[in-house]
Amino acid sequence: MKVILVPVTPFQQNCSIVICEATQRAAIVDPGGDIERIIAEVERQGVVVDKILLTHGHLDHCGGAKALADHYAVQIEGPHREDAFWIDQLAAQTQRFGFSDAEAFTPERWLADGDTVQFGNESMEVYFCPGHTPGHVIFFSREHKLAFVGDVLFAGSIGRTDFPRGNHAELIRSIREKLWPLGDDVTFVPGHGPTSTFGEERRSNPFVRDDATAGTTA
Ligand SMILES: [Zn+2]
Ligand SMILES: [Zn+2]
Repeated sequence: MKVILVPVTPFQQNCSIVICEATQRAAIVDPGGDIERIIAEVERQGVVVDKILLTHGHLDHCGGAKALADHYAVQIEGPHREDAFWIDQLAAQTQRFGFSDAEAFTPERWLADGDTVQFGNESMEVYFCPGHTPGHVIFFSREHKLAFVGDVLFAGSIGRTDFPRGNHAELIRSIREKLWPLGDDVTFVPGHGPTSTFGEERRSNPFVRDDATAGTTA
């Protein structure tokens, strides 16, 4: 599995082109916008796009999903149905933040805890990780020990919970009860900023390290 990060939108969101090297087929995780840049990178890699995967309904993660799905005639999978209210507001958010191309849509498939998503010969497990948004999911390749966690966890930080229906305690619980059991040696791609490992965050992340008290922020 090969991963190409394409930072998109004014928020520098890590859109990921995730490639099955055996079949040269790809999934695109969180195409928030700047879809010409995503399309150019897909062409440069010479891969066929199988589907679009979404971690959550925020504009910087799914603002380009509909246009890209139409471009490749592929389906959109995710996030969890609880984020429908965010996706329904995409057009309004677009105007507020000066993004282009964001259209509301209904994913062909809503995702839930325990689902799997597939592209080429690869499959990824789906975990429901609410807190940043109520319908946030993450994708995990057990074979490659690699997770795409959206805005749940960052290197040295965690997702904001001051949006409508955000919940700080729930976010901490999602990280500890869903992410950590996947293994310290798992590398994760966050929605923004550099990659890290779960083990490194358990050691050093002030919000969720193992010696921090659950639910408090330093
Ligand atoms: Zn977000
Ligand atoms: Zn984000």
